[in-house]
Amino acid sequence: MSDARLREEICRYGRSLFERGLTPGSSGNISLRLDDGGWLVTPTNASLGFLDPARLSRLDAAGALVSGDKPTKEIPLHSALYETRGSARAVVHLHSTHAVALTMLPEIDPRAALPPMTPYYLMRAGQTALVPYYRPGDPAVAGAIRGLAGKYSSVLLANHGPVVAGDSLEAAVFATEELEETAKLYLLLRNLNPRYLSPAQVADLITTFGLDLPVHDEHDHK
Ligand SMILES: [Zn+2]
Repeated sequence: MSDARLREEICRYGRSLFERGLTPGSSGNISLRLDDGGWLVTPTNASLGFLDPARLSRLDAAGALVSGDKPTKEIPLHSALYETRGSARAVVHLHSTHAVALTMLPEIDPRAALPPMTPYYLMRAGQTALVPYYRPGDPAVAGAIRGLAGKYSSVLLANHGPVVAGDSLEAAVFATEELEETAKLYLLLRNLNPRYLSPAQVADLITTFGLDLPVHDEHDHK
């Protein structure tokens, strides 16, 4: 895909996410890893709803700004996922309401923030990790994401929002949407004793679709 086309894609998906209320104000950011190891990133203080393709931040492989506006302050979130997940080509970070709400509930398992509720959640977002709260801009959050050793393509930042990697921008966007909708379902059904997918149904999805989910061993706890 040409540079112009990639820039268009970022702006198109950004607008779509913003217009559906998936990230308010100037929150949220998108990055794409390019063939030369450099990146295209949404600028700091830019609303995803009103991005200008020509002003996207173009970084080189070392992370230095080559052209465009100053990049988002949340770059460490993106680089930590790229560093630990070799196949990642795009990262999407939003402040989407239901996913943020989920992070504040006391029962959330940090290695499986959501139960296996729907096949498409597992197929697109995989399993989701939760990392503790860090002040915006604190570089320690990158360490927490690296600590997951690339096992998760979707991560929730406590009291903040989701960060999701994909092997294309479309995959990262769709996975983020699936995570948000599944968090919404969880909140709708919380305390209603819902029937989630059974271990056998999850195993069947893993085998049939070749899903690469982090092993979540019961004996592993605590
Ligand atoms: Zn954020």
